[in-house]
Amino acid sequence: MNAVLELRDARKTYPGSPPVESIRGVSLAVRGGELAAVVGPSGSGKSTLLNLATGLDRPTSGSVRIAGEPIERLSDRRLAGLRAYRIGVVFQQFHLLPQLSALDNVATGLLYRGVPAGRRRADAAEALSRVGLAHRAHQRARTLSGGEQQRVAIARALVGRPPILFADEPTGNLDSANGAEVLGLLRRLNVEGTTIVVITHSDEVAGAARRKITLRDGLVAHDTGSTA
Ligand code: ADP
Ligand code: MG
Repeated sequence: MNAVLELRDARKTYPGSPPVESIRGVSLAVRGGELAAVVGPSGSGKSTLLNLATGLDRPTSGSVRIAGEPIERLSDRRLAGLRAYRIGVVFQQFHLLPQLSALDNVATGLLYRGVPAGRRRADAAEALSRVGLAHRAHQRARTLSGGEQQRVAIARALVGRPPILFADEPTGNLDSANGAEVLGLLRRLNVEGTTIVVITHSDEVAGAARRKITLRDGLVAHDTGSTA
């Protein structure tokens, strides 16, 4: 089976008195080509799940496989490599470098891969066209609209063609017009073959996903199921 992301009875416990079991046995698989939304109330474990799924953190027990690799068994160095090559992440606050051009921001997505500068810029230009921003390539990030900045961030996440893209509240900082533009882009990228997992509070965003995974108290309360 071609799961791009697979959790098997994954648990995460934060030490303390008492310890907090943030994820209490989550099993799910996301296959290539899916567009899945993860929803759930505050404190249900969404951020913890994202940290595990993007290799920022390791499970306390159980397994998390990213592109087939069980991250709990990888050294820090190999995990960093896996993150650089296999995962794209987009955040609510775009995290662009405001003084740099859109093109240079996107090119930073390849910095940790040792790609030569000329090639980074060529790939960045192509990624910017994929998000419909070729005409903004040389404009400084801070002069772009919120929707455009988020599209630049999406291009930066996709420039290395990772097999999966995670988006954490990607429309959370945008007004409805810019939010709709970003949502439309995510849907189009998915139709073109990008596997996307989006964490969201927005009914509109969740409604646009073909699969909805609902977390509650650190468990999967409901999953409409794999669509790929
Ligand atoms: P969500 O993103 O859905 O709001 P989180 O994954 O952030 O949920 O949190 C789930 C639970 O784990 C909450 O009870 C939260 O307080 C706890 N938690 C999250 N991170 C930590 C941490 N670093 N240390 C202690 N408890 C944590
Ligand atoms: Mg959170």
